[in-house]
Amino acid sequence: MGKATGFMEIARSTVPYRAEVERLKDYNEIYTPPAEVHLKEQGARCMDCGVPFCQQSTGCPVDNLIPEWNDLVYQARWKEAYERLAKTNNFPEFTGRVCPAPCEGACTLGINELPVTIKNIENSIIDKAFEEGWVTPNSPKQRLGKSVAVIGSGPAGLAAADELNKMGYNVTVFERNDRAGGLLMYGIPNMKLGKVDVVNRRVKLLEAAGIKFQYNAEVGKNIDANQLKSDFDAVVLAVGSTKARDLPAPNRDAKGVYFAMEFLEGNTKNVLDGKSATSHFISAKDKNVIVIGGGDTGTDCIGTSLRHGCKSLVNFELFPQPPTQRAANNPWPEYPRTFKVDYGHAEASHVFGQDPRTYSINTKRFIKDENGNLTGLETVNVKFEGGKLVEIEGSEKIWEAELVLLSMGFLSPESTLAEAFALELDGRQNFKADFGKHSTSVEGIFAAGDCRRGQSLVVWAIKEGRLCAEAVHKYLQA
Ligand code: FAD
Repeated sequence: MGKATGFMEIARSTVPYRAEVERLKDYNEIYTPPAEVHLKEQGARCMDCGVPFCQQSTGCPVDNLIPEWNDLVYQARWKEAYERLAKTNNFPEFTGRVCPAPCEGACTLGINELPVTIKNIENSIIDKAFEEGWVTPNSPKQRLGKSVAVIGSGPAGLAAADELNKMGYNVTVFERNDRAGGLLMYGIPNMKLGKVDVVNRRVKLLEAAGIKFQYNAEVGKNIDANQLKSDFDAVVLAVGSTKARDLPAPNRDAKGVYFAMEFLEGNTKNVLDGKSATSHFISAKDKNVIVIGGGDTGTDCIGTSLRHGCKSLVNFELFPQPPTQRAANNPWPEYPRTFKVDYGHAEASHVFGQDPRTYSINTKRFIKDENGNLTGLETVNVKFEGGKLVEIEGSEKIWEAELVLLSMGFLSPESTLAEAFALELDGRQNFKADFGKHSTSVEGIFAAGDCRRGQSLVVWAIKEGRLCAEAVHKYLQA
């Protein structure tokens, strides 16, 4: 595997992002092109560890054959590395850019050293494969004469569509938005995942392979759900978890309080189509911005507000700051719940000279003027005692703000499709279907991704789409 002594000789070194001062001027991707020699060296750090936890479910949800392609990159056998990668992951160019890399958290070298830079290596393999023209449409050898409707074109829907199309089914993807990709297109901003050059490039390949896409097609609204059910042999629901968690504090109706997705979607439409084509663009320019809630969504709101030219920026987090090292109840190979500095935090520190995050803080009320415009909010510091959230007396504080972005997660899919198809829901209001089986309570209807498992990750959506396609195939061949 790799170089037997590589892990002892070579230190971990990640591919850097573009410098903050440069990348803040545009919405282009933050990544820099890595040198092949650098990746070869980093691939050499992969040990012959015996049981590669990175590629098992504790690590990579799609079971990427990580040690194999690390070794192939070390040997500069890039095409074979790509072929291995494509076996398990339909869209490595998405995960290579945005995955939080649970594989690196589970890397055996990570027990007492810094882990292998698996994510950088994955991204470089797929980028090189595109450059070299190795990625071509996956058309089936023959068609099976049966059809499947996939509702939703996020990573779960696209992975299910890709797999079913390869098997020979006639697949049509119904998407209510004007472009394919789900949160890959209108959630994650362009600087983290390019829309035209990365997401659309893949959608075009899927179209060339024979998958049909219908846009502005909202099933349950302008597309009749039951008609769809009778027109297709099976239906896959991959509509995501789109109901955002609200903050029902006094004056929530103040003009200037928005859900993160309203802000991010409007911004991407503006980047792609220009301001005149965007009816819902929300500007952070010259405003005091408060982002409520951490996570990827919060980081993306920070990075986007900075690019607009906000006046100040703060990010509230209800929970305390995570430890810098793994806590005793978070051992290897679990995903490390440690303090991380993501791209948006680094950019905010660059602009304002300090990390934007404030921990253990809760919002008590929004403040608005006589015209209903947001002018600020009031917070209180909190702590958790016996599992309960307790306010710390005397810690109340008023913050100036003209824009507040709520990024506190997502609760469930919307109710439209559950009602239209009379689907059973689970305890969290997601579509009820077992992982690995994916059949809902209604025969011929399957569910995958965030609408089934709850708010999650791109890599899990891909895994669910793949497993769901297998389940549909079993059902249609029975
Ligand atoms: P989605 O991507 O949500 O796609 C669902 C699609 O269904 C949408 O296109 C929607 O328009 C469509 N749809 C809904 N209802 C209908 C209907 N009735 N008819 C037709 N179409 C419909 N994960 C990561 O791994 N890394 C990250 O960096 C990351 N960043 C994120 C940033 C943000 C801002 C957000 C919100 C999430 C992020 N995530 C990230 C999570 C990740 O994007 C999701 O887990 C993943 O996209 C879920 O995929 P999905 O296919 O299940 O659903």
